[in-house]
Amino acid sequence: KAAQTIEPTFLFYREDMNRRAKEHLRLESEMRLALGDQELELHYQPKVSLINGQIVGAEALLRWKHPLRGMVSPGVFIPVAEETSLILELGTWVLDEACRQIREWEDRGLRMPVIAVNLSARQFDAHLPARVAAVLERYRVRPDQIMLEITESLLMRGADKVIEIMNELVAMGLSLALDDFGTGYSSLAYLKKFPISTLKIDRAFVIGLPYEENDCAIARAIVTMAQQLRQEIVAEGVETPEQMRFLRSLGCDQLQGYLFSPAVTAVEFEAMLGEGRQLMLEEIM
Ligand code: C2E
Ligand code: MG
Ligand code: MG
Ligand code: MG
Repeated sequence: KAAQTIEPTFLFYREDMNRRAKEHLRLESEMRLALGDQELELHYQPKVSLINGQIVGAEALLRWKHPLRGMVSPGVFIPVAEETSLILELGTWVLDEACRQIREWEDRGLRMPVIAVNLSARQFDAHLPARVAAVLERYRVRPDQIMLEITESLLMRGADKVIEIMNELVAMGLSLALDDFGTGYSSLAYLKKFPISTLKIDRAFVIGLPYEENDCAIARAIVTMAQQLRQEIVAEGVETPEQMRFLRSLGCDQLQGYLFSPAVTAVEFEAMLGEGRQLMLEEIM
């Protein structure tokens, strides 16, 4: 009897799993094609200084222009890619493309701010520094032009090996940012062990500012901690002047968010820099 009641749910579950598995497989094979077919693009989201409103960096964000599905969000395809070695190929493409773009900008005499590239924890192995060095060399890009964004999941692995690789990258001249800070489980004491120069407060804690008491307390604690550790602090997903004002009053260094700009194409980003566009700090204060 028990089996009879369990079975239908079980079947339903199985079908659901099958559908998801198939969808994953399809996405995966389409991504492999996308890599070769120029369906991938990097867009750039400006990071602006909360001291003078100027663009001081940008984060490269992967975009997939699928011929039938339209724009597929990295929130959908990165997690799928992370389940396979595909993330390594995507990661290689992203770093290569960012450096190629920087070289192109430099060749035209443009002065570009630091470009941040997201790294999956799976890309973090002993060969990473050599791979990064090779790409930098190929495009003659200075290491201080690149920042690598990593997540807390990598720190949680906590192995000395991870710290060693990070130290190697930093010794080469790259900088490291801790992305989505606050969503993982790293503690203050823990953070100190890693050569991370920038903390990015996750959007989850920015959303409620300045009205949600808990979010305010968390944001305040993160900024204070970062200052103690002498790390730069960037707030992600800032959409309103009120959020900006609050973060600025805390002493947060930079913001990244729709309030200033979403991620835009390389051409649009270049135009923004050329126009000297900046965040109107006073006007909206
Ligand atoms: P992330 O690294 O935390 O990037 C920030 C995400 O927040 C981006 O989403 C960005 O478009 C979005 N965002 C920025 N400002 C605002 C805002 O004011 N409001 C809202 N609602 N959203 C905002 P996106 O581009 O969809 O990327 C999602 C995630 O996918 C990224 O989160 C990152 O974890 C991952 N990702 C993107 N590109 C790459 C990549 O090249 N490699 C790897 N490994 N992961 C990537
Ligand atoms: Mg990021
Ligand atoms: Mg982030
Ligand atoms: Mg985030």
